[in-house]
Amino acid sequence: QTQKSSVPLPAFEHTPIENIPAICQTVRASFLTHKTRPLEFRLKQLRKLYWGLKDNTDLIYEACSKDLGKPFFETYAGELGWCMNDCIFMQNNLAKWAADEAAPDIPLTNKFLGPKIRKDPIGAVLIIGAFNFPIQLSIGPLIGAIAAGCTAVLKPSESSPHTAAVMQKIVSEYLDPSCYIVAQGAVPETTALLEEKWDKIFYTGSANVGTIIAKKAAETLTPVALELGGRNPAIVTKHADPRLAARRLLWAKTYNAGQVCVSQNYVLIEEDMVEPLLREIKTAYAEFYPEGIRKSKDYGRIVNQRQFQRLKKMLDETKGKIVLGGTMDEDDLFIEPTFVLVDSPEDSLVKDESFGPFIPILPVKNLDEAIKIANEVHATPLGLYPFGSKAEMEKVLSQTRSGGASLNDGFFHASIPTLAFGGVGDSGQGAYRGKASYDVFTHRRSVTNTPAWLESMLSVRYPPFTDKKHKQ
Ligand code: NAD
Repeated sequence: QTQKSSVPLPAFEHTPIENIPAICQTVRASFLTHKTRPLEFRLKQLRKLYWGLKDNTDLIYEACSKDLGKPFFETYAGELGWCMNDCIFMQNNLAKWAADEAAPDIPLTNKFLGPKIRKDPIGAVLIIGAFNFPIQLSIGPLIGAIAAGCTAVLKPSESSPHTAAVMQKIVSEYLDPSCYIVAQGAVPETTALLEEKWDKIFYTGSANVGTIIAKKAAETLTPVALELGGRNPAIVTKHADPRLAARRLLWAKTYNAGQVCVSQNYVLIEEDMVEPLLREIKTAYAEFYPEGIRKSKDYGRIVNQRQFQRLKKMLDETKGKIVLGGTMDEDDLFIEPTFVLVDSPEDSLVKDESFGPFIPILPVKNLDEAIKIANEVHATPLGLYPFGSKAEMEKVLSQTRSGGASLNDGFFHASIPTLAFGGVGDSGQGAYRGKASYDVFTHRRSVTNTPAWLESMLSVRYPPFTDKKHKQ
């Protein structure tokens, strides 16, 4: 990676575990002062967060580069610009979303009660982020929490420590310190945070840890939003355009060096299409990285040694044949995008989430077989990517489930700022982004107001329930 500048980054320091109860108490107490309720307060915090991000642009670029070798373009598109746009979008729409909603289809007899939905903040919330989009997956939910009028503790991933430290600097310098606090750390600190009572926990990360979070939350009936992992299929039929499919699938696996929860985990491909697709993938690879991928500043790195070793082991264990890529350099945390021809859905590269730059390709006889395998490997993946004729793509949608889907593309649906994003089944629960980010931290409170003058009409509901009342 050649684009390192030399901006001094703040240090990452674990939050002392003994401080965690007081931190949680601070945001809970602040919520109970009701200071986050007025829209002016929330709008001001969103404005400040926008400027916090903008003023710290250099630090964010540098931190993402240090943590993940993230190319500047990807940092802007998926982290900095993404979150700044979300701040603006929230500010522009908040008043409209926060307004009371009249209940629909009210029976005439209930009209006088003025039934309506109020939008109340859920309360004091805990947000736990993942490492791969360290800013987006932490600040994104925080934007929703601020807009909804919640107070929050944010626990970024310790695996991306530079970005975690920059977020702590931004949150502490720009936002109300009694309402929004960053707590740093790994399992012990997160475990201590989970010991506290929250009004909602918003978690992004693996399904294994998601289960720990959900179990702990269940002890106090705390609601959770879980944004979990994906073992996402792409399906390429013989009617797909091989060049288009090759470029788009390659893009979706080289972005962030494949460390993207929504990118395709494996590709099911009709037998006739294997050769044309592989040929086009090789062409696209040469076009994307004309100077060779090792030298390219446009390809990221694996986040740390632990993840590197995990990925290396996965590749060692596959029974498939490497048809493109396969080189690695541990010192540089570099793993080349690697295409592997596999012959069974039981291959670990298909069954397990790689969360790295591997693309196992499994030839299938026809679309029916592809759909069958996709449903067997993971009934409810986070994303799904069919390439083929319109009718084929519609068939795939109508015979599968997934959190979201991009037709004729890799994970592009996840880039639409106003489209709710989330999983289904064991790939997650509770969507966010756009209005959904506001909704996920909002309680829709049903309210009526019974006017005094209705009393004579209402007397029918009071005992004694005389015969006369029955007849009414
Ligand atoms: P992870 O589950 O290891 O870590 C996520 C967060 O959980 C971190 O903040 C970490 O400190 C915390 N954590 C880890 N172990 C814990 C424990 N035992 N108790 C409490 N907290 C704990 O996930 P990751 O490695 O950061 O991210 C990779 C996974 O996340 C992949 O499965 C990927 O698909 C998924 N992911 C999902 C989305 C989504 O939006 N659905 C986005 C990004 C990543």
